[in-house]
Amino acid sequence: MEKILIIDDSPVQANFLSSILAGDYEVTVVNSAGEGLDQAKAEEYSLILLDVIMPGIDGFQLLKMLQEEVILRHTPVILITSLNDIQHEEQGLTLGAVDYITKPFHPAIVRARVHTHINLYRYRTQIEREATVDQLTGVPNRRRYDAVSRKRWQDAVRLGASISICMFDIDKFKVYNDTFGHPAGDKVIKAVAETASAKLRRGTDFFARYGGEEFVGLILGGSAENDFAHLQTVRQAVEGLQIPHNPEVSQWVTISIGGITVHPKADSSYDTYLKMADAMLYDAKRFGRNQVVWSNEKMEQWKEK
Ligand code: GH3
Ligand code: MG
Ligand code: MG
Repeated sequence: MEKILIIDDSPVQANFLSSILAGDYEVTVVNSAGEGLDQAKAEEYSLILLDVIMPGIDGFQLLKMLQEEVILRHTPVILITSLNDIQHEEQGLTLGAVDYITKPFHPAIVRARVHTHINLYRYRTQIEREATVDQLTGVPNRRRYDAVSRKRWQDAVRLGASISICMFDIDKFKVYNDTFGHPAGDKVIKAVAETASAKLRRGTDFFARYGGEEFVGLILGGSAENDFAHLQTVRQAVEGLQIPHNPEVSQWVTISIGGITVHPKADSSYDTYLKMADAMLYDAKRFGRNQVVWSNEKMEQWKEK
C-alpha cells in the first residue's frame, strides 16, 4: 500500500483527512512541521499533504526544506489551504507543490486528487526504475553506472580515498550461446549478476551490467590487497554455481576479472584507469581465464594463478 504523510497542526482536521484516505493508503499523521520533516526523512512516502498555516515553521517554509533534502525532492506535496485563499495557492504552486486541496474537505474531491497524484508518482518511479535498472538482471544498468562512476570518482578525490575499478567478463560465452542457445545464455548472465552483486552490496560498493556479458564493479576506500582478495571470492562464487559449460571449453561457467586500485587526484582521469582495469581483464583472459588479475597505480601486478 502506498504511504501518505499528513502534516497539519490541527489534529481534528488531520484526522478527518486521514479517515478519508485510510481505506486506500497507509496514512501517517503528524501535527508539527518539525515532526513532519523528521518523518519525511525517516520513511519513503508517495505523497505528502501539507497544511499551509501552522505555528512556527509554516507550510511554505517546510515545503522549501523538504525540497532541499535530496531524497525528498521527488516526493509530491499537496498543500492544504482555506477556501478562497488564491494568493496562497499561487505561492504554493510556484514553490513546487503539485496541487492544493481546500478546506472544508469534500471527501470525493480529496480522494480524486490524491489518487491522481499517487498514480502519477507510481508511473514516474516505474519509469525512473526502468531507466536505471538492467531488465534482464535487475542490477544497475550502464546508464546508472555512468552517473555513479563519475560521482564515486569525485568522492574518492574529495575524501582522498582509494577506489578500485574492476571489469568482469564471462569466459567463452560465445561458445556457451552456440551450444545451449541464447535464452540459456541469458539465464547465465542473470545468475552471474546475482552472485556477483550479492558480494558487492556494501554502501561503498557498486556493481552494474556494463553491457552484454560484461559487468563493472567499484569499491571505495579499500586496499589493493583486500579488494583483489575479495574479487577472487566473487570469481570462486561464480565457479561454485557449477553451471555446466560446453565440456570442450571447461567444466563450469567461469568469469575473468581485471581490476585496479588507485588514489585519484583532481587531475586524474577515470577513463585512463578504466582502460587499465580492462587491460588487466585482457591479461586474465590471456593467462588462461577463470582468474583475477589486479594492479595498482604503480603498475605492480597481482595474479591469482
Ligand atoms: P572470452 O572468454 O574471451 O570472453 O570469450 P567470449 O566468447 O565470452 O567473448 P566474446 O566477447 O567474443 O563473446 C561474448 C558473447 O556474449 C557474444 C554474445 O553473443 C554474447 N552475449 C552478449 N550479450 C548477451 C546477452 O544479453 N545474452 C546472451 N545470451 N548472450 C550475450
Ligand atoms: Mg566480452
Ligand atoms: Mg566473454
